[in-house]
Amino acid sequence: MNDTAGLRLTVRAAEKRDAGRGIARLPESARKRLALLSGDTVEVRGERTAVAKVWPGGPDAPDGSVLIDADTRANAGVKVGDTVTISPVDVSDADRVTVAAPGRLAEVDVSREVVERALSRELRDRPVTEGEAVHVERLGGLRFVVARTAPAGTVRITASTDVSVEYEGDVGAASDRADAQTDAGSDRAGGAATGADSRSAPASDDARPKAGDSPPAEHTAGATYEDIGGLDEELELVRETIELPLSEPEVFTRLGIDPPKGVLLHGPPGTGKTLIARAVANEVDATFITVDGPEIMSKYKGESEERLREVFERASDDAPAIIFFDEIDSIAGKRDDGGDVENRVVGQLLSLMDGLDARGDVIVIGATNRVDTIDPALRRGGRFDREIEIGVPGEAGRRQILDVHTRRMPLADDVDLDRIAGRTHGFVGADIEGLAQEAAMTALRRARESDSRALTDVTVGKADFEAAHANVEPSAMRE
Ligand code: ADP
Repeated sequence: MNDTAGLRLTVRAAEKRDAGRGIARLPESARKRLALLSGDTVEVRGERTAVAKVWPGGPDAPDGSVLIDADTRANAGVKVGDTVTISPVDVSDADRVTVAAPGRLAEVDVSREVVERALSRELRDRPVTEGEAVHVERLGGLRFVVARTAPAGTVRITASTDVSVEYEGDVGAASDRADAQTDAGSDRAGGAATGADSRSAPASDDARPKAGDSPPAEHTAGATYEDIGGLDEELELVRETIELPLSEPEVFTRLGIDPPKGVLLHGPPGTGKTLIARAVANEVDATFITVDGPEIMSKYKGESEERLREVFERASDDAPAIIFFDEIDSIAGKRDDGGDVENRVVGQLLSLMDGLDARGDVIVIGATNRVDTIDPALRRGGRFDREIEIGVPGEAGRRQILDVHTRRMPLADDVDLDRIAGRTHGFVGADIEGLAQEAAMTALRRARESDSRALTDVTVGKADFEAAHANVEPSAMRE
């Protein structure tokens, strides 16, 4: 292969600290072959092309791999495990860059001038190309799309680049397209949209996103492994169990072994069970179908079994797929304590799981905080083959979750995340997310009261976290 034309490497997920930074970590062997130095810009070619800055790989980037973050993966249209071509790219300084704003920006009520200043500062020194999505930390982590650059191609935004923002309704605006993509990727329970699932097609007229670019609602997992704080071992167990059957089902057929059919995640609410399931579905590009346990029992009274059959049918039509049963205890309680309806529904679920074919490309994940109430027949081999506890995080876990939820937040220097982690005993992931959001809102309110022009320079400080802490109670205390 001609090295200057590029090197084919396998995509791995970036470390959490790289999230949203447009970085490609390359092993030394690849940097040598491509004659690249840290800080150089490369093109990452997958289904589409993204650009990223080169950083050294470290121990997690073995030969043949490249570590890229979720934004860059989304921009290049690739998933973990795919192959991309990495090649050096010449970057010229940009004269002009036009960025399309998401519609939600209107909710913040800030002037165009302030937005442009924030964009210009945030994007300084960053290589960008037309069509690329960028999250702007100074504006609450909102997602913008690079609409046009002059010159065309990959450009670096410098202090003298004229950065302008384009709103929906501006003549020739691309922002309506930016919106369409943002919405498609925002089906996440809280948190800033990562855009990982919203394919960012180039925003020029001849390449506007096609209908097929927006995943159907049930497919929109959005979350990535980088969005999960702590839970490293638990995630590893889940991945070990279900990634292989979903991405390479033929391995099981070839070896003549039965692929796993189900995984039971158990632990208190808000600890990340749904998040893990969504992240795995997203990372392996599987359809994600959620079944709400209590809803299927009450809303579809009398039709619960029928609904279950439909769900399994849809999953095999759209395989690879993950069927996620939230609060599975409400439909799969022990048969002898329930009434007739419950017994029939558990029976139906058992037979649907037994009927999943040996291809292994449909996997059921059940989530519950009351594992002991689950019908024992479901917990026997061949159904939920694996039970994984997702517990309340300890201090180190809380610290990592804080990292995830403050990643795109402009933190003041006085914020000590270690200290916050030490003082939030009993907080689960959802509580920590609530705390971080509340701190950000406190900071925004404070900034608006003093001077609305200061809004985009707002930082979230220690006092904001303290005020938020006084208002946010860990969910365990509320029960
Ligand atoms: P569960 O399914 O266990 O009840 P969820 O996965 O729905 O909990 O968590 C709700 C939200 O809380 C998530 O969408 C995420 O924003 C946040 N969260 C929970 N656990 C974690 C975690 N370990 N790391 C980061 N965020 C978390």
